[in-house]
Amino acid sequence: MSARILVVDDLEANRRLLEAKLTADYYDVLMAQRGEEAVQLAKREKPDLILLDVMMPGGIDGYEACRRLKAQPETRHIPVIILTTLDDRTEKLRGLQAGAEEFLTKPINDVQLLARVKSLLALKVVIDELRAREANGKRLGVIGEELRADPLEQHRVVSGNVLVVDDNASQIKRIQAALGVEHRVSVLNGEAATAPPDLAVVSVTAKSFDGFRVIARMRSGEPTRHLPILAVVDADDHKRALRALELGAHDIISRPIDEDEIVARARTLMRRKRYIDALRSRLDHSIELAITDQLTNLYNRRFLDAQLTPLVQRAQCGGEPVALMAVDIDFFKRCNDTYGHDVGDAVLREFAVRLASNVRPSDFACRLGGEEFVVLMPRTGGDIACMAAERLRRHICSAPFSAQGAPHPIEITVSIGVACTDGAEDTPEALLKRADEALYEAKRSGRNRVIGRAAGRAA
Ligand code: GH3
Ligand code: MG
Ligand code: MG
Repeated sequence: MSARILVVDDLEANRRLLEAKLTADYYDVLMAQRGEEAVQLAKREKPDLILLDVMMPGGIDGYEACRRLKAQPETRHIPVIILTTLDDRTEKLRGLQAGAEEFLTKPINDVQLLARVKSLLALKVVIDELRAREANGKRLGVIGEELRADPLEQHRVVSGNVLVVDDNASQIKRIQAALGVEHRVSVLNGEAATAPPDLAVVSVTAKSFDGFRVIARMRSGEPTRHLPILAVVDADDHKRALRALELGAHDIISRPIDEDEIVARARTLMRRKRYIDALRSRLDHSIELAITDQLTNLYNRRFLDAQLTPLVQRAQCGGEPVALMAVDIDFFKRCNDTYGHDVGDAVLREFAVRLASNVRPSDFACRLGGEEFVVLMPRTGGDIACMAAERLRRHICSAPFSAQGAPHPIEITVSIGVACTDGAEDTPEALLKRADEALYEAKRSGRNRVIGRAAGRAA
């Protein structure tokens, strides 16, 4: 699907002109005539980018519209380019300080505009992907309420590490003076960074190194791949500005550097970086939550099901066998009844530690609920699995559990049923069922033992 761009201008002729330029590059264009209308439309239609005129009579101006867009949770991640005939420093600063990603003066240079549109859209694709995954997580109930706060809002005032890559002493000083108020600024001459920065300011006018090469390297190297880059170019050197954007710079500032301008641009870039970082870590965290049992930190049932299906399928198609241990603590109800539920929980936690530390790194220890556990063993046949189960059984009863809150250490034993994949007809459900049957046999025949049911028969 092509990107959708909202064009906001009070003059019909201006709107049509931009529409023509953008549709020629295969973008879909939405249009609004007034600031209020734009804010509402953006909230409803969620465009990928907004081009915003400043002077729109009879209502809020472009700056105010931009501020409102950036204050609204539904629209604050949408990049804004302010387009105006007002060509002076104060106006430009007002635009950037209202949170706009870019400020361009009319008449618009087409190449410059489309380059900025493209680079801002590329950045938005990353955010959209993360937001979509997050929305999925919310729908599935994997992302809980307490995680729903908007990271862009949380990080409105941001300071971070800025790395300056430049060889011009007076320019470096200027950048340090401007950005040093809010950020920690360090300087590097030409090579990639060691400490992780949140923003790189790279001069492409440096004499002693090739700034373009620095940008290209940062963009392709793993630790700096998502790092925002602000490229410093000579005023009106559109060619170099375009080249920097093509290579992956997120933003451009021209020389001589205006201190207020670099502060505003750094703020916007930093805020976006924090937003992306927060989305990423929130996703990692929610994925972890989704597959983890909260009492024991072992994997949960959802994880087991997700892993088991493809492993059994592979085994069916002639791949390596998969074995399962169904593990159940003996007389656990008695432990609860005697010492209380909290001590029971402590026993479960210690049990989980013993379980997890006694299986191989390639095995997955899962808690299905209560005092029932499963160990999933990829690339393992029945005999090896039975040996592993026997080793685990002995380890559990080898020393009593010193559960927190218990008056004395508690003797714990465990029964284990083992099953292994069995030919082309096998299913995850059948495998789990055989392990369960073996477990019940272990219980029936006296507990504290292992029964193997590899390949459909008792071993
Ligand atoms: P068996 O040897 O046949 O397995 O007997 P058992 O007592 O271990 O098994 P049963 O299924 O009868 O009882 C399991 C008990 O586990 C009952 C329940 O109170 C307790 N239980 C289940 N979940 C939890 C939990 O999260 N924490 C605690 N402390 N106890 C739990
Ligand atoms: Mg039990
Ligand atoms: Mg039970």
